[in-house]
Amino acid sequence: MGAAEGLMIVILLGPPGVGKGTQAAMAAEAHGWLHLSTGDLLRAQVAQKTDIGLQADQYMSKGDLVPDVLMVEMVAQHLTDVSSEVVVLLDGFPRTIAQAEALSEKAPGGSIALSLYFRASNSELSSRLTGRGRADDTEEVVAHRLKVYHETTSPLISWYQEKGILVEIDANRDIASIQTDFAHAVDSTLKGFSQITG
Ligand code: ADP
Repeated sequence: MGAAEGLMIVILLGPPGVGKGTQAAMAAEAHGWLHLSTGDLLRAQVAQKTDIGLQADQYMSKGDLVPDVLMVEMVAQHLTDVSSEVVVLLDGFPRTIAQAEALSEKAPGGSIALSLYFRASNSELSSRLTGRGRADDTEEVVAHRLKVYHETTSPLISWYQEKGILVEIDANRDIASIQTDFAHAVDSTLKGFSQITG
């Protein structure tokens, strides 16, 4: 993937509607971290009607995952571009084991330092999703995205747990409490990380 040296990559995991994008944007703003959201990158491509956007839209509008090759290429490109950033919050990637393997293979040793798993109850998730009003948030598409999440993405939770870098955040609470835990988890990992990389 050719990611630059010195990056500390934080992977954000959790179901659609859990609020990880909101949390990541807030944390990035407050601490000067970089928020890389594959959903936002894809929506920008769709809006601009680029080749990638036209391809991706066919999957996104149905709640399916965009093919791995396309996603790996897109994230690789962005990670190469952010050489001076210390902390990168990776939001929406990886979403499959194949994407996680591609990321581990290409990211410099130890740069994937933390995976934050945002956990919320199903009732909380459905009320957040229906209140959002995004084009791919119709009832049918949301139900399909949740199914895809459970089948294909949620195995990443134990994958990162086995690597010993998973931290769980209770996302049923208010935005400020979640943000406090989020920043704390990243800061603690960053302290250990700076000691290793000097
Ligand atoms: P949410 O925040 O609701 O989980 P995102 O904004 O992260 O949704 O992503 C929206 C859509 O973009 C997904 O439903 C999927 O079609 C596509 N997408 C985003 N990231 C990836 C990825 N890593 N792999 C495959 N598809 C992706």
